[in-house]
Amino acid sequence: MKILLSSVCLESGTDIQLSLYYLKGYILKSNPSFEVSIHCFTENQSVPAILRKIIEAKAQVIGFSCYLWNIKKTLHICRRLKEIRPGVKIILGGPEVSPRAEEILAQEKAVDAVVRGEGEESFAQFIQAGPDQIRGISFRKDKKIVNTADRPLLRNVGKVPSPYLNGLVDLKDKSIKDVPLETMRGCSFRCGYCYYHKNFPYVRYFPLSRVEKELRLILSHKPHEVYLMDATFNSNPQRAKKILKMFIRYNRGSNLHVELKTELVDEEMARLLCQANAYNIEIGIQSTNPRTLKAINRTLDKARFRKGIRALNKLKLYYEIQLIDVLPYQSYEGLKNSLDWLYSLHPAKVVIFRLAVLAGTALREEAADFGIEYDHRPPYYAYKSNAMNEAEVKKIEKFSYAMDRLYDSQFFQKTLFAFKKNAGVKISTILEDWAAWESRFKRRPADYPEFLNRKSPMFLAYLCRRYAKAALYEKLLPGLLKGR
Ligand code: SF4
Repeated sequence: MKILLSSVCLESGTDIQLSLYYLKGYILKSNPSFEVSIHCFTENQSVPAILRKIIEAKAQVIGFSCYLWNIKKTLHICRRLKEIRPGVKIILGGPEVSPRAEEILAQEKAVDAVVRGEGEESFAQFIQAGPDQIRGISFRKDKKIVNTADRPLLRNVGKVPSPYLNGLVDLKDKSIKDVPLETMRGCSFRCGYCYYHKNFPYVRYFPLSRVEKELRLILSHKPHEVYLMDATFNSNPQRAKKILKMFIRYNRGSNLHVELKTELVDEEMARLLCQANAYNIEIGIQSTNPRTLKAINRTLDKARFRKGIRALNKLKLYYEIQLIDVLPYQSYEGLKNSLDWLYSLHPAKVVIFRLAVLAGTALREEAADFGIEYDHRPPYYAYKSNAMNEAEVKKIEKFSYAMDRLYDSQFFQKTLFAFKKNAGVKISTILEDWAAWESRFKRRPADYPEFLNRKSPMFLAYLCRRYAKAALYEKLLPGLLKGR
């Protein structure tokens, strides 16, 4: 049997779709006679071009991995594919369809089945035996939709063959820049806006001996970056340190990308991260407002967080702290307070993401209680709540650009802190001022950020006028010009 595994990826996504390689490895382990190929496409490829490639593969079964960003295009491809090749079996899996299996099957006649939850075993058994007795499958039977029982998680994730150690991924391929790797699967936290923990409600570790072999092999090919897919890499700090030491031992110049809980970062971990070239660290805190955090089932220990940030800053590690805009009880002013507190820690970077009210999450169920209104089509962005109106949400979008220009670009950063100190104006207020000031210019194409950098003395003059601090202009201008 010929099976094609496919996904439409974000242009900027990692080069290797790990989930498809896991599936391929598992299918081949169950039945080595199957012919399994993988084709990944990008958002920018046209549907006819994608269809041509898929049809060329002459597969009897086609599996698509579905996410928020590709579901619309994937369903379009499925419809066209079924028109051209009615005999082909189309199976969907992934976080975007798992909680919506019935709805997808009811609406999309082109889709034959949906694999719910952890997919490897369900998919491999399904293509050999059909759906009836297989757990974790939703399918159509006599015009009715049947959901088989949920599948328990694999007890031993090490059963899933490593795509690297078994040679499924050709690491010699020079076009591979970033290599994703899971050292664990699942999450023991229960954030209200997240679906990942619903699919994988507890942590299972890949054996350290396997992780070590994978790292040794991957790093010997000197990829640009190894991206650890673990939800919270340092949730088990001792284990995380062991993995970092392995990374350091085998590294030949690659960078490391991880997601961390800052409260669990101590001096030793920061030093190991630094030695491991961890230049891409994500830190999701979402909010600093205790009531908001409680409503989304998260915690933030500010004292420990501050300590962790200090340890990262001391070694000049580059990291990104992530906030979410529309959340329960989070007002516009509250979000500004979060920003001011974070900027007082002199972080490497702060970003604000839009809330996506994902299917299957606790927050989607409770959205009405918090007055959260959102687009019911993917990516399900929220546009207002009881605490934040639509105009404020739009203002926050402009903030992001201000944060990029005034802080992340480094260009104005020193002046920003100096103005705050000398004029007693909050950073978040200066960001707001910048958004108002910037709106007077007509957006230009690619060189627009440079254009704004050149105009930055004008912005400083604007601030000094606005806050009646004329003397500050002369004082801060030399520093600003020096940074240019
Ligand atoms: S957001 Fe991250 S930490 Fe929270 S439940 Fe999801 S995966 Fe776990």
